[in-house]
Amino acid sequence: MQGRAALVTGGSRGIGAATALRLAREGADVAITYVRDKDAAADVVRRIEALGRRALALRADAADATEAPGAVDRAVAAFGRLDVLVNNAGVGLLGPLGALSTADVDRVLAVNVRGVFLTTRAAAARLGDGGRIITIGSCMVQRVPGPGGTLYATGKAALVGLTKALARELGDRGITANIVHPGPIDTDMNPADGPYGPGQAALTAAGRFGTADEVASMVAYLAGAEAAYVTGAELAVDGGHAA
Ligand code: NDP
Repeated sequence: MQGRAALVTGGSRGIGAATALRLAREGADVAITYVRDKDAAADVVRRIEALGRRALALRADAADATEAPGAVDRAVAAFGRLDVLVNNAGVGLLGPLGALSTADVDRVLAVNVRGVFLTTRAAAARLGDGGRIITIGSCMVQRVPGPGGTLYATGKAALVGLTKALARELGDRGITANIVHPGPIDTDMNPADGPYGPGQAALTAAGRFGTADEVASMVAYLAGAEAAYVTGAELAVDGGHAA
């Protein structure tokens, strides 16, 4: 990853922060986006810079049709290039179908689908040969273990279609596109010690939550040169949730 530049959306906490740090450890300069937690984003930047890499925290709301793709331009302006896009920013909104409002639908699809699409479109115009697009999906795409997931699973499933179509569209430019499906991962969004923690752990073959670093490890593999022949693929890091 030496000399390469990455953009990780939603990189201030959780899976995104772990991924940004992992890519920096592999040698990349890394820009992250965030919306609310400026201090957490600044802390990630400090930790990346301590590794001797360039880092940038960009306030860019994935739900905003201008800010989301604008983050790509800002990262390119700072680093002079873009090699890796990690579409990680997402919101988790679960609940019974009848309790989900139209505003909920618009919010989840704006962040989890439209934001990913617009950011990816902007990045595809900038990525060179060897470029990488890695999107964070969900184990709920492969197996919905109970009620309450209609809206979230709808959005995440759309990203599988996007990923496969991207692989076909960008393959001749040497750019790969893949989607990683995390199982239950211990983050602010889904704390292992929360009320639903034990139930989710029991749904995996491993019998436990995963860590953000375990997802970041897969993303780092996909971002690297060794994964040049992996594209259009769905890769589960789910402790056997789908088994
Ligand atoms: P967290 O809630 O812990 O972190 C989310 C990150 O995204 C934060 O950095 C947050 O920054 C940022 N973010 C949230 N909304 C926006 C937005 N509108 N625009 C830009 N950035 C935003 O989540 P996780 O790390 O758990 O989740 C990361 C991804 O992994 C998501 O796509 C999620 O759906 C997916 N996932 C998570 C699983 C889990 O069990 N944790 C399981 C399967 C998939 P800030 O708050 O500062 O704005």
